[in-house]
Amino acid sequence: MKVLATLGPASATPAQIRALFEAGADAFRINMSHGTAAERAALITAVRALEAEVGRPMTVLVDLQGPKIRIGRFQGGRVALALGQRFRLDASPAPGDATRVQLPHPEVLAVLRPGHGLLLDDGRVRLRVRSAEPDAVECEVEVAGELADAKGVSLPDVVVPLPALTPKDREDLARALELGADWIALSFVQRPEDVAEARKLIGGRAALMAKIERPAALAAIGPILELADGIMVARGDLGVELPPERVPGVQKALVAAARAAGKPVVVATQMLESMVTSPVPTRAEVSDVANAIYDGADAVMLSAESAVGRYAREAVAMMDAIAVAVEGDEAYAGQLAYAAARPEPTTADAMCAAARTIHEVLGARAVVCFTRTGSTARRIARERVRTPLLVLTPILATARRLGLVWGVHAVHTRDVADFEEMVGKSKRMALRHGVARAGDRLVLLAGVPFGTPGSTNVLHVVQVAGDELERYRPRG
Ligand code: PGA
Ligand code: MN
Repeated sequence: MKVLATLGPASATPAQIRALFEAGADAFRINMSHGTAAERAALITAVRALEAEVGRPMTVLVDLQGPKIRIGRFQGGRVALALGQRFRLDASPAPGDATRVQLPHPEVLAVLRPGHGLLLDDGRVRLRVRSAEPDAVECEVEVAGELADAKGVSLPDVVVPLPALTPKDREDLARALELGADWIALSFVQRPEDVAEARKLIGGRAALMAKIERPAALAAIGPILELADGIMVARGDLGVELPPERVPGVQKALVAAARAAGKPVVVATQMLESMVTSPVPTRAEVSDVANAIYDGADAVMLSAESAVGRYAREAVAMMDAIAVAVEGDEAYAGQLAYAAARPEPTTADAMCAAARTIHEVLGARAVVCFTRTGSTARRIARERVRTPLLVLTPILATARRLGLVWGVHAVHTRDVADFEEMVGKSKRMALRHGVARAGDRLVLLAGVPFGTPGSTNVLHVVQVAGDELERYRPRG
């Protein structure tokens, strides 16, 4: 189980980031919706400096803001809307009042029809379209409240004809790739085409995570999962666009779909929300984090808790403690085994399924996997073998990207040239990284010829001898 911690003002200095790492954070998220470009660049630089200091690959996920729809401005900054009154959204940039305001997205105005609902300011105000013209809609206020400048608008009933990436997203993406982001998260994905477009722009320089936060994306989750490298259950916006009581069921379905596809899935938002201001979480929050792990998520995420909260380090430590407790529960193992994904008819999947069986029958201590692209590591992680999964890769980018994958302990190391070296290195690394002791058996997975991607075809069992323990004591 991985902990993904969002960085922000409460976790911006190298010392603060190090504290989060030591408390159990495996990966760091930079949210492009907040802060300045310079501040965000400094965060990535700080993570890389820590990586060099600690000598462990670290994962940076850059989360693009995406096409968030917002209303225009009001005379005086805000208005109060009354239940049942009419309110107009139009194309005029003139400051709004209690009867109208601009919706500066003509393409959105053009698709709204009578009956469509609009949720403003995270659902605090609700409108329903009564009549529509090409460049304006007349609405009725169904949930009354205050509206202020530039508040967000959610449109659960339509596929919004907006591009997947705004001009700001494109700039942020280019910067993030220059700075060496490992994962790019795409917000408000609606269609598989959105993912395909971002994928083309990224051009293999980072892995791509599709944030599932719009109902339209749920309807197309199959093809979206095929095109993305992973998904995030973005419960914040999802719980605005869907009735919140539907989110838990959707979370379970999304986690199951991602697991079946062998792609990592992050469960996000408000997981330990009360820890923004309190040193202890509510029991319900602890339960929520635990249940996401029981569901089979690869990673759980902290947002405000670690980015702006007063107890950022404590929130990470709490999440880590919950993960350790769940992973120690026999019922968790049973549940994961029960929900095990069926292998696909490929050599790699057959080898991974066999590795899992060998591990179980022998009570092996760890699975050691050699990979260049990370593909074998993701396939074996999909098996949810309840053991350390030591991944050895000569490609640093691969080691970093695997920081969001369930159970993986990735090590950046030189490639092996032959069978003997493979065996020696497996034992050495397992001892050095504390995943095995004398007498333990290891299940090795690799591809021959060595160094050729996509050739997983070696499955081997070795036993670590006592004298090897003396030679390779764990570091630190
Ligand atoms: P956000 O995404 O924090 O960027 O809005 C997560 C969510 O919506 O849950
Ligand atoms: Mn969101």
